[in-house]
Amino acid sequence: MTSYVFITGGVVSSLGKGITSACLGAILEARGLTISMIKLDPYINVDPGTMSPFQHGEVFVTQDGTETDLDLGHYERFVRTARCGRHSNYTTGRIYESVIGKERRGDYLGATVQVIPHITNEIKESVRKGAGDADICLVEIGGTVGDIESLPFLEAIRQMGIELGHDRVVYVHLTLVPYIPTSSEIKTKPTQHSVKELRSIGIQPDILVCRSEKPLPQEERKKIALFTNVPEKSVISAYDADDLYKIPAMMHEQGLDDIVARQLGLDLPPADLSEWEAVVDAKQHPDGEVDIAMVGKYMDLKDSYISLVEALQHGGIHTRTRVNIHFLESTDIEKSGPGCLENMDGIVVPGGFGDRGIEGKIEAVRYARENGIPYLGICLGMQVAVIEAARNLAGLEGAMSTEFDKNTPHPVVGLITEWQDQAGGTEQRSEESHLGGTMRLGAQAVELEEGSIAARSYGRTHIEERHRHRYEVNNRYREQLAAAGLRFSGLSVDDLVEMIELPGHPWFVASQFHPEFTSNPRDGHPLFKSFIAAARKHNEGTLPEVAQA
Ligand code: GLN
Repeated sequence: MTSYVFITGGVVSSLGKGITSACLGAILEARGLTISMIKLDPYINVDPGTMSPFQHGEVFVTQDGTETDLDLGHYERFVRTARCGRHSNYTTGRIYESVIGKERRGDYLGATVQVIPHITNEIKESVRKGAGDADICLVEIGGTVGDIESLPFLEAIRQMGIELGHDRVVYVHLTLVPYIPTSSEIKTKPTQHSVKELRSIGIQPDILVCRSEKPLPQEERKKIALFTNVPEKSVISAYDADDLYKIPAMMHEQGLDDIVARQLGLDLPPADLSEWEAVVDAKQHPDGEVDIAMVGKYMDLKDSYISLVEALQHGGIHTRTRVNIHFLESTDIEKSGPGCLENMDGIVVPGGFGDRGIEGKIEAVRYARENGIPYLGICLGMQVAVIEAARNLAGLEGAMSTEFDKNTPHPVVGLITEWQDQAGGTEQRSEESHLGGTMRLGAQAVELEEGSIAARSYGRTHIEERHRHRYEVNNRYREQLAAAGLRFSGLSVDDLVEMIELPGHPWFVASQFHPEFTSNPRDGHPLFKSFIAAARKHNEGTLPEVAQA
């Protein structure tokens, strides 16, 4: 029987509710429990697939190909048993879509369809589906208490508390406890008000997680407890940590997992946080460092590449290397040339959409190739590497992806109109297809060429990685590109290019898939470990030079 922990947020947004939920999952998992995790998002979009990364950060893709909120990335990085998918992220839009679909089919037998009970029932049913058979399901409610949009979700979780009882449901509320420097005071009032707001809709929190700059003094804890009717020991101080991976230990030290276990009547073994300690230790005590350039757009909004940044850091953890990431706007390379790449030990071109800065990315590839700097291209980063090789190695002048130039004389990357989905069925897409849900999405099998850097990094030739893209390398150019020196080191079951390499270059690897979505701090990821190891050799001057063709 699954128990539930509901996590709401108050006072302001961006308090790190996703990380807090993920860390709570991590410490409960460390007590031997299986965990499932769900994010409920109050916005109307059916999924975040069409939202601008400017507004919403990265779109995280799950194994089953669902485009989800970036918090699901935190869940999977922190909690091994959390297997996120289609039932792990529900938006208001998706809930309404389903209810309206049912209404049109006549499922409600002539009833007036209302927020209560129809929408709230749909939410509860979705939560139960997402919970699966895990011991505990953690449900994070997006937005801030007091928002109009989140009311139906809060009402649904309130009802679940009544239906399941106090020993199967825990309410955690995350708030901000600001420090006012001018009066040197810590203010508990916003927390009091936020809890008041929550109680006015019928939810009494069992645990408060208070975000603050410094650890919360006992006095303030006591005050918050008194005013919010939450036991003092259940007022947890989540102060700013210099490292994300210290948070599970911080929460465990204050007994958060014990409080949850006690309320749910669970008798659990002690927490084993040794892997998290090892992660923090490796991060705090590197024995080398690298400078990695990430060349893309939206570089001022780091959240749009959060999984990639994390995966690079994981590569550092597993090679004991400090990874300094430099976010470079590709349009700056277009304006001022690739000089900014001069002292870099590795260059990454991440996934992306739209043509802004595309020539700058191609230029970054060229710089990496010609100067023997380790290059990791991801999705669009592989496509630009193919374009660069086509133009500068195969002499195909004006080569381009049809995404950016429909009339290119050499469409080395183009839209294919039919491909096989995971189940072996055929999917269709065309230039006119809707943008939502017409991409190659989710985990698909890739066969790696024996002896390639990819196969050596993974230690096997059959892998599965996640996709999110519309365009593919044009197979008509494969022979020509191979003759010019490009190696197609990974192919899909339906013979699409999944990975490329450049023999003669010490480490030049790019993938059509997104390896960053399957990296986590405790295990790292083969490609990122291998990339950071190569960058480190570059930094230490032990990487072989580029072989002259
Ligand atoms: N825009 C490219 C495509 O749709 C690449 C997508 C990506 O990098 N995720 O194929």
